[in-house]
Amino acid sequence: MESSSSSAKDTCVQVALRIRPQGTREKLEGSRVCTSVLPGEPQVTIGGDRSFTYDYIFDQPTPQHAVFEGCVERLVEGLFDGYNATVLAYGQTGSGKTHTMGTAFDATAHLNPHDAGVIPRAIQHVFRKISESKSSSLSQGLLEPIFEVSVQFVELYNDDILDLLTEDRATSALIRIHEDNRGEIVLNGVAVRPVQDLETTMEILKNGALNRTVASTNMNEQSSRSHAIFTLHLKQQRVVSSLDENGQPTPPKPGDMEMEMLSAKFHFVDLAGSERMKRTGATGERAREGISINVGLLALGNVIAALGGATGKVSHVPYRDSKLTRLLQDSLGGNSRTLMIACVSPSDSDFVETLNTMKYANRAK
Ligand code: ADP
Ligand code: MG
Repeated sequence: MESSSSSAKDTCVQVALRIRPQGTREKLEGSRVCTSVLPGEPQVTIGGDRSFTYDYIFDQPTPQHAVFEGCVERLVEGLFDGYNATVLAYGQTGSGKTHTMGTAFDATAHLNPHDAGVIPRAIQHVFRKISESKSSSLSQGLLEPIFEVSVQFVELYNDDILDLLTEDRATSALIRIHEDNRGEIVLNGVAVRPVQDLETTMEILKNGALNRTVASTNMNEQSSRSHAIFTLHLKQQRVVSSLDENGQPTPPKPGDMEMEMLSAKFHFVDLAGSERMKRTGATGERAREGISINVGLLALGNVIAALGGATGKVSHVPYRDSKLTRLLQDSLGGNSRTLMIACVSPSDSDFVETLNTMKYANRAK
């Protein structure tokens, strides 16, 4: 992947399209591939005549590491400079959101490291960078920076927030979204787990993800109707870079004692399935689910469109229109970096939903 500083790479909202490979069943049923990507260009054509361009396109054979390195790694780097980031996986159920995020655990399977998705790779990158930064400070005779990492994992379902890291589901009634006086969004009542290394963080991620799956078998495929939000907080205390005569930061020197505190967070969001509710049969509880999901995805689309608007001018950003956008408010827009990974199936049997996803993602650019 090229890493030149073209202006597209500096905008606060970016969109990637990921086309998953066809599954065995789709092949057996004779589904044809209806998407095609121009080699070397981030443009996709669907059904032969509709074309869309995104910041990144990952066609069927793209391995997990290429997705991470292509568009997520730099957001993790930004975390160390104090920039909040959000990665959202959008798409219909079965399009590859959970696979891409890297939380498709099952209780027994060993995860092949080659198949690890975005979240495990981001966690690994964070801890590797922390230890590199400590040892490079040591070797240069600088004061060692101090890092604190903590994680949260919640599910947003029917406008209720469930803490996936707590067994006691009754606590969810007490969870509140709170905006502090610096504009930072805090989830009161949600467990914050301090973590020191990759292994414990992965264990927490896995338990939370399994919590979500367990609930879904009892609760009407809840996981396809809920948003899962894994958040990594990074706090660091480091020696302040001095400025040269041009006001540019220069690396700190031994003896520099002035410390600064930086804190930032990274949300990883596995969104609810974007498929339209079927009109027939959607009554009562299911209809309510359908409605509250659509409110969240609709509001998210509006927020992102307002941020990445064609005019480049942000006027009113409607964060308050849903709990999802409220919760993500301090990490969408402003100094934050947002990446939407729109996930689609290549099969003609999914044509309608794939086209819907492409249109939704197109608004976000
Ligand atoms: P979603 O979370 O959007 O419902 P999943 O991530 O569960 O979808 O993916 C549906 C199925 O497709 C799973 O069996 C998953 O392993 C497979 N799959 C998705 N994306 C890929 C990919 N890029 N490569 C291989 N298999 C994939
Ligand atoms: Mg999923």
